[in-house]
Amino acid sequence: MDLVSRSEWGARPYRTPSGATRYSRPRRGVKLHYLGTGYEDRPHSACAAYVRMLQASHMDGNGWSDIGYSFIVCTHGAVFEGRGLDRRNSANGSTALNEECYAVCLLVGSSGLTEPTDAQLHGARDAIDYCRAQGPAGDWLGGHRDGYATTCPGDAIYAWVKAGAPRPKSPTTKDPEPAPVKEDPAMPTVITESQAGGPELDANVYRLLRMADDTALLQGPCTYTVTTYATVRGEPGARITLRFHDLMLSAPNDPSHDLPIDVGVIGPEGVLNASATRNGMLTKDEQLKVEIRADADGARVERRVLRALRWDA
Ligand SMILES: [Zn+2]
Ligand SMILES: [Zn+2]
Repeated sequence: MDLVSRSEWGARPYRTPSGATRYSRPRRGVKLHYLGTGYEDRPHSACAAYVRMLQASHMDGNGWSDIGYSFIVCTHGAVFEGRGLDRRNSANGSTALNEECYAVCLLVGSSGLTEPTDAQLHGARDAIDYCRAQGPAGDWLGGHRDGYATTCPGDAIYAWVKAGAPRPKSPTTKDPEPAPVKEDPAMPTVITESQAGGPELDANVYRLLRMADDTALLQGPCTYTVTTYATVRGEPGARITLRFHDLMLSAPNDPSHDLPIDVGVIGPEGVLNASATRNGMLTKDEQLKVEIRADADGARVERRVLRALRWDA
């Protein structure tokens, strides 16, 4: 197994005491996850930075004490140590579910790269075997969606793990750095995410409008055009505002907010379909987020949709 330790990928220290919580009993097995957002494959030299970004979004965006997963497997088959074997993960949806299974996330998206590579399946199998042998963990295998309402880990990974997580026929040797596939550099990646539910809104308080499992709409480096839609239900006449912002991962507490966009008032039927568009650029260190606000209590978001065109920078 090509294990990348926390110090090797440059993990931040986890917060105590929560991040130090140990498992209280042996694990039943292993649950697989995917990113639930757009993901583009990248050279292996960029994988550690991506794992650092995930950790930052879990700690600073979700407020968790560490990266949520036990292990993270990149498309090149390396296994990055997250919370590892002893510390309880926070990725499976509830304390009971976290206690029950290790959480292994494959760097695969819900758009862009949506199928695991053979090297990645070998890496995921390595991680499963390692959890069983060293954890210890029982032989149960499944996905985040087992016992929790989510599409995670996507259909491709779920079918594989439910088939017993067989090793692909190709050899385990790590793929060479892939030559950049640039069929047409002007062709953007099309991202569409549609999620039921959303935040409840208190009067005049901005709430993050999350897409899938992640808090960010997009991660740089890229140029983009993004439209977010939100179906809001509440008292007729309540005014809804959307606000985009860029977040530097190196300064997560200092977002650069756009001016608020007035997207209309809730109609007599008690519903507003709000949308706002933004074009821009993100550096490697930047994420794009969006927040929503109502000027009266009691409104809530029923559905969120993200449509984006993304050009790699
Ligand atoms: Zn998941
Ligand atoms: Zn990699």
